[in-house]
Amino acid sequence: MRTETLIEKENKEIAKQYKELLRISYQNLNAEDKKLIRLAFDTAVDAHKNQRRKSGEAYVFHPIAVAKIVASEIGLDATSIASALLHDVVEDTDYTLDDIERMFGETIARIVDGLTKIAHLKKDMNISQQAENFRKMLLTLHDDVRVIIIKIADRYHNMLTMDAMPEHKQVKMASETLYIYAPLAHRIGLYNIKTELEDLSLKYTEPEVYRDIQEKIEHTKEEQQRYIDDFSDVIRDSLDKEGLKYTVKGRMKSTYSIRKKMLSQNVRFDEIYDKFAIRIIYESDDQNEKFLAWKIYSIVTDHFTPNPIRLRDWISSPKSTGYEALHITVMGPEGRWVEVQIRSERMHEIAEKGYAAHFKYKHGEQKEQGIEEWLNRLQEALESSNGNAVDFVEEFKLNLYSKEIFVFTPRGDLKSLPKDSTPLDFAFNIHTEVGMRTRGAKVNGKLVPLSTTLQSGDQVEIITSDSAKPSQSWLDYATTARARAKIRSSLREEKKLIANDGKEILRRKLKSQKITLNEDVVNKMVVYFKLQTSLDLFYRVGLGAIDNQKIKEFASSYNNAFISFFKNKIRRKAIPENIDREEITSKYDLLVFGKEEEKLGYILSKCCTPIPGDDVFGFLSVNEGIKVHKKNCPNAISLQSNYAYRIIQAKWIDSSQEVFTSEIKLSGIDNLGLLNEITEIISDNMHVNMKNLNFSTDGGTFTGTISVVVKNQSILKKLIQNLKQIGGIEKVIRL
Ligand code: MN
Repeated sequence: MRTETLIEKENKEIAKQYKELLRISYQNLNAEDKKLIRLAFDTAVDAHKNQRRKSGEAYVFHPIAVAKIVASEIGLDATSIASALLHDVVEDTDYTLDDIERMFGETIARIVDGLTKIAHLKKDMNISQQAENFRKMLLTLHDDVRVIIIKIADRYHNMLTMDAMPEHKQVKMASETLYIYAPLAHRIGLYNIKTELEDLSLKYTEPEVYRDIQEKIEHTKEEQQRYIDDFSDVIRDSLDKEGLKYTVKGRMKSTYSIRKKMLSQNVRFDEIYDKFAIRIIYESDDQNEKFLAWKIYSIVTDHFTPNPIRLRDWISSPKSTGYEALHITVMGPEGRWVEVQIRSERMHEIAEKGYAAHFKYKHGEQKEQGIEEWLNRLQEALESSNGNAVDFVEEFKLNLYSKEIFVFTPRGDLKSLPKDSTPLDFAFNIHTEVGMRTRGAKVNGKLVPLSTTLQSGDQVEIITSDSAKPSQSWLDYATTARARAKIRSSLREEKKLIANDGKEILRRKLKSQKITLNEDVVNKMVVYFKLQTSLDLFYRVGLGAIDNQKIKEFASSYNNAFISFFKNKIRRKAIPENIDREEITSKYDLLVFGKEEEKLGYILSKCCTPIPGDDVFGFLSVNEGIKVHKKNCPNAISLQSNYAYRIIQAKWIDSSQEVFTSEIKLSGIDNLGLLNEITEIISDNMHVNMKNLNFSTDGGTFTGTISVVVKNQSILKKLIQNLKQIGGIEKVIRL
């Protein structure tokens, strides 16, 4: 009997909640809307009937609470309210998406699907996965932006009811909320919910700090009210005289933002002087709204000195979120600066409820356009999601938090851009095509570099040209996510096109070198040219950076893969630097001159006294014949520069090793091990010098000629004999 009573009680409460939900809805609901909500409500109650939350409460109270946030605090339409009621149905119960579509139609099914997908994203993730999570979440916006709003409401309610959860989960959820949901709520213009999310997060991440600040705020409440009363007293008469209907309220800074300020300025609570702002909310019809704002402004500043650099006119230029108000900072009572926010009731509602409230004041097509514009803006952020997810979040968060600037088009239309935007950002903001064709920019009539940082109030004109296109350097000039994404993807496209051409060019050129373009060849070329990918290779060929000459060089090294190997071997056999000087002096006893290595008469110069083995050159003197100087002789430079025509090459050689050159022709089967053996034999065993080599391969066979320098016939004979011993060598002959 007791359980029955409890259920009865619950059912009563559920019925009460339903009436409440309809009553608090911000948008007007017609009969059809109510029918839809009723069906969604009953479906949710039925679907969740066997579920309870950790707190013991029937589960359905959660989706109802989320629907109430959506209906009242955000002020969305019946479709959104129904979707909010159903947001956990597919995720947690036996109802399928098909059931939802059949019962509620395509739109609601799509929204519920989006919400289910978000719920499916893995929960245990590191920060980059969280970022990826976030990105995917945004991607669902392709379908419907209402997904994200309901998700924020869902998160908000979860944050409000986290007490029953274990502490580590609280902290995790709170961190995620700070990292992802609060910035997102801010972007969407849900300022109140953003503040709530931040304060709730602080409550769980730093409970003591949170409690401490809360207590202090409580303590200063009286003082604050007194201050506001003092302030109102001063302006009341003047406002009343104008017949204005208004309220003056204090607006305390959020706990989170006080905490942030204490940290960033390293100050105590009582050292923060601007803990609250004063809000004047006035009644007005459409026509007089702006006029009255400035009238109040003028009354306030008549009585209190304004700080001229702290005037923010969000009425003439609403924020991209739709926020409108006039903010001024004045020297208030007690000689303290205080911010005064002047808003009409309509503006106040928009500020409190966010963009959705905007739609209430717009009708039909305008209403739809409003939603569409908003969707487009979020879409732009989404399009920058090519790169890595963390970058994307960072970039996105930067855009979220950076202050906006306002600039004008040549026709005087106002555009809002993030702070630090450049003309290039402006161009891409106007239209992708304008961005892509940008050749230059004029700011306030003057030609400026594309890297110029725009300031609020600038009039910006983009000069376009059909032949202009994005270049790599544009990435240094563009700061907005949108522009950078467009430039990047254009550069990638361009690269792909060039690479496609490059691949064909390469195929042709290799063919003329008798090489077929295949994966192996491509891989070898990537390594040869020290590149990363085949795309890089084709791109460089397409650009001409890898030209015919370089391809030929590769071809010959590929055709004679062993030659470089061969040459390295020989180079390694060269006389090392640190060889014994004594030995050189005794061995290199004969000085020869010129290319022909002729033996001529000479004298060693006295200025540098060269000894055998030194690097030397000959100088044809008028009276003394050839004089030999060291190459590093102090006189050498002057001689070489003034009498270059009298310089003759000179070189020490070993007179016991006079040699002759001979050519050997080899042929056989092409393999790398074979060549190793040839190397061993020629340079290790025979003390033979190699002057020239020429090898070519053809279908697994090779032929080659080697010019060798040997001391006598017998060594040459022995060399040929030894080479013939190598397996694979077919023929060795002396030419
Ligand atoms: Mn939920």
